[in-house]
Amino acid sequence: MEEAKPGRPLPIARIVAPRSVAVVGASDDVGKFGGRVIHYLQKHGFPGQLLPINPNRAMIRGLPAFPRVSAAPVAADVAILAVPASSLEAQIADCAAAGVGACIVITGKLAEAGPEGAALQDRVLSIARAANMRLVGPNCLGIFNPIDRAMLSSSLALEEDDYAPGGIGMVSQSGALMGTLLSFGRHHGARFSRCISVGNQADLGLEDFLEYLVQDDDTRVIGLYIEGLRDPARFRALLRAAGKPVFIVKAGRSEAGAQAARSHTASLAGAFPAFEAICRDAGAVVMDDPQMMVLACDAAIRLPPLPAPGLGLAPIASSGGSTVTFADMLPGAGLRLAHMSDATRAALGRWMPDTHIALPVDTGSFHEGTSGDGLSDCIRAFMADDDVGAVVVPMTTQPDMAGRTALFPPLGREGGKPLLYLMTAGAVGDASRAVMRAADFPFYDRMSDAIAVIRALEAEAEGRARRVAPQPARPAGIGPEPALPAGALTEGEAKRLLAAYGIPVTREAAAMTADEAVAVARGIGFPAVLKGVSRAVVHKSDLGLVRLNLRDEAAVRTAFAEVVAALERAAPGAAEGCVIQEMARGEAELFLGATCDPQFGPMVLVGAGGVLVEFLQDVRTAPAPLSLADAHALIEGLRAAPLLRGLRGRPAADTAAAADALMRLSWLAADLGSRLVELDVNPLILRAAGRGAIAVDGRATLKEETP
Ligand code: ADP
Ligand code: MG
Repeated sequence: MEEAKPGRPLPIARIVAPRSVAVVGASDDVGKFGGRVIHYLQKHGFPGQLLPINPNRAMIRGLPAFPRVSAAPVAADVAILAVPASSLEAQIADCAAAGVGACIVITGKLAEAGPEGAALQDRVLSIARAANMRLVGPNCLGIFNPIDRAMLSSSLALEEDDYAPGGIGMVSQSGALMGTLLSFGRHHGARFSRCISVGNQADLGLEDFLEYLVQDDDTRVIGLYIEGLRDPARFRALLRAAGKPVFIVKAGRSEAGAQAARSHTASLAGAFPAFEAICRDAGAVVMDDPQMMVLACDAAIRLPPLPAPGLGLAPIASSGGSTVTFADMLPGAGLRLAHMSDATRAALGRWMPDTHIALPVDTGSFHEGTSGDGLSDCIRAFMADDDVGAVVVPMTTQPDMAGRTALFPPLGREGGKPLLYLMTAGAVGDASRAVMRAADFPFYDRMSDAIAVIRALEAEAEGRARRVAPQPARPAGIGPEPALPAGALTEGEAKRLLAAYGIPVTREAAAMTADEAVAVARGIGFPAVLKGVSRAVVHKSDLGLVRLNLRDEAAVRTAFAEVVAALERAAPGAAEGCVIQEMARGEAELFLGATCDPQFGPMVLVGAGGVLVEFLQDVRTAPAPLSLADAHALIEGLRAAPLLRGLRGRPAADTAAAADALMRLSWLAADLGSRLVELDVNPLILRAAGRGAIAVDGRATLKEETP
């Protein structure tokens, strides 16, 4: 047998599928942690060698027991410990002395419990490191590996029988949640490959097991429950290279961006949007509900992929109530009904009066006695229709429900597109669910579940397309970076930075006296804009430092006097005169922002509404740099995008120019890297299509260059 050797730790694949397992604290009493672990290993048919460890028993559950791990005749690949924290250190030392390959430590009250526990965890880790022994946990719920029948856990989810092997791999930072999700998945007929609860990640962590699942051929789709990342760069690289669908739930998304609202970018950026943006960029799908994550993983395996993102849905069932309410949920979820082709209409016309040919289809309007055949025929027509992405059957109680249910798995399989079958009844629907489980076909209990799954599949289809998109290319027209001080920049300094990257900014010049202001305004032309300058001010207009639409010299003089006075009040000792600039006009305003996320690096943001951006919260975030196509897609992703296209006779705004500015800003952010604290263009004024966009305000804070 291959032993763990010094210098070469036991590979993860072997920890997940060990040939021998020592259960520390094994017992005949399933009320105890160790008792449950060995019971579950046996119950789920662990094929390797089991070594119960208990100093007070000679036999446990029919197996010879040993007083210590080091007293067993072989050095186990894996030891599972669910011992009290007080005896953990001694037990780990004994495992290390015995040459155990890895310990799965279910024991809690370690780093998560406070400084004393953290110190104990550190000692345990050094013992393991010195012996080249790996650790999973502590404070984890272990590993479920239905493929190798290695259920190395005390989770009550293992009370259920027959976790049939499948293709869903999972890594979870919550053990209890993972057990719950396994049981939930099993209810739905979802099947798992390998699921790992990583606990406190003293040694092996989420990124290590993610890498393992990416390489594992039995794992076809990956689900992740994440609380925090140890190695964001490695995580991102793994997602990019995954080559299989990855669905993620991240805890803590509701925590507001912790920073004070120093500027728009600081208050809008936040940790969660950056996380979501890098996942999306890498083709992974971030969801908010762990149960839906499991259903999405399952659908990605057991349903065919959506032909493309953005197609319509075809709901069909025998209840007008269920099909119509389902259809009503689509717009709110960003989904739509399909536009039926002539061929599809003709198919429907064979079974129902012409007046009823429309989506959603209520088979109650079929001609007498035709519903079963008509249903199959219509579903085949939908499957052949280019605008149909998926067929949805929201079944309600009806005679012969289970018999009718049996129609769908073959139709779904031959159609080559997802068919989502909903059984929305309670216990009376269990026979139908059993039919679906036996047919190895997914079912959903709620309309909202099916919607969540379709949205996840849509996002996955977009992710698939992203994964093959070329790397963005550096645009032409980037000049040398102007020399600028660290700290908060003035509007003029920020605009010089923007202009160096080819982003159009207002023509402007500084003025220290009213006469200078008038001279500048004459040069630029009326109407003009006058602003007070101070790097200590964040929002100028709040303090009366912005005067728009100055039509003549007199207006400039008055504005100058008033703004200088306001500036002395607002920023005593930090006034830097005034700036006079051209007055821009346009159809719409956008907010553009850039920042450097501490975990994921340079990011850009685009938001609707200019000054209203924080109120509207209509913001999209992406890692920098972007291609022009990425920048377009980001702007198109705003809820306000239809407004930019022109409504009620208003001309469309120049979104192409906005995308170009956003793309250029992303290269500026990428080049500045960690020197960039934050940069806002607020607003970028968009003129009518074809006439460009212009940055009328700029704000930036830079850090000292770190050599
Ligand atoms: P702040 O954001 O610091 O309050 P801004 O310079 O953005 O100050 O000015 C406030 C608002 O005035 C902007 O949101 C924009 O609507 C308008 N504005 C500012 N400068 C110009 C300009 N040069 N042309 C047209 N409108 C402008
Ligand atoms: Mg502004």
